[in-house]
Amino acid sequence: MYLVKYIKEVRVRYAGFGKDEDEWVNVKGGVRQASTPLEPSECHKVKDGDIVLCFKESDDYALYCDACVLKITRQEHDPVECNCIFTVQYEYDNSEADVYGKDICCRPSEEKSVALALPMQSIESLWG
Ligand SMILES: [Zn+2]
Repeated sequence: MYLVKYIKEVRVRYAGFGKDEDEWVNVKGGVRQASTPLEPSECHKVKDGDIVLCFKESDDYALYCDACVLKITRQEHDPVECNCIFTVQYEYDNSEADVYGKDICCRPSEEKSVALALPMQSIESLWG
């Protein structure tokens, strides 16, 4: 995203809001490279511990939130729709939820290092 060097602010429209609520945000503090929707054929690339964006919808809002993948229940599926169930923990309130692949966006690969920095758990400790 080379443009970041030259552009100070971008105009943002939030999902679920009209253009009257567009906001100018500072590129450096408020924007990062677009996360891409998880391709159903590429869901196997998501691993435990990855940081992803999850679509979260309630009566009041619909937005993408940072979340850490805790567990993935893989399902057989066609390349059109991912039926795998991703158990995630939202970063902002630590709540957990099960979401489908279609509700997940992956960050560009260079940010994956965040996930790699998490301490690895040995298999034994997972079984308690
Ligand atoms: Zn899948």
